[in-house]
Amino acid sequence: MKKRARNMFDASKIPDDLCPIATELFDMQVGDWRAKRPVVSRERCVKCGICWAFCPTQCILDLEGWLEPDLKICKGCGICAEECPHQAIVMIEEEV
Ligand code: SF4
Ligand code: SF4
Repeated sequence: MKKRARNMFDASKIPDDLCPIATELFDMQVGDWRAKRPVVSRERCVKCGICWAFCPTQCILDLEGWLEPDLKICKGCGICAEECPHQAIVMIEEEV
């Protein structure tokens, strides 16, 4: 679908800088515009899965000893940190 849309766009006479936001965002991942990122404490995490259940993008990965957000998809909303009953997640500012 993405390729088809790109081919249609390339075949059109529309200059690709007509809408710089749309053309720049075309290949962006959600995580590219995140302002904060969740950091999980491996010592505190008990793998209860609450963060996984609440994450709106369903980006929490099940690793061997703890759960970890996939930062390519995480939008930095902080819901996981709010909901974690063990305070195992803190939100830190992304560096610009
Ligand atoms: S909610 Fe907290 S303790 Fe539970 S799996 Fe997620 S990070 Fe670990
Ligand atoms: S910050 Fe939001 S999107 Fe990212 S892992 Fe936590 S709940 Fe999911």
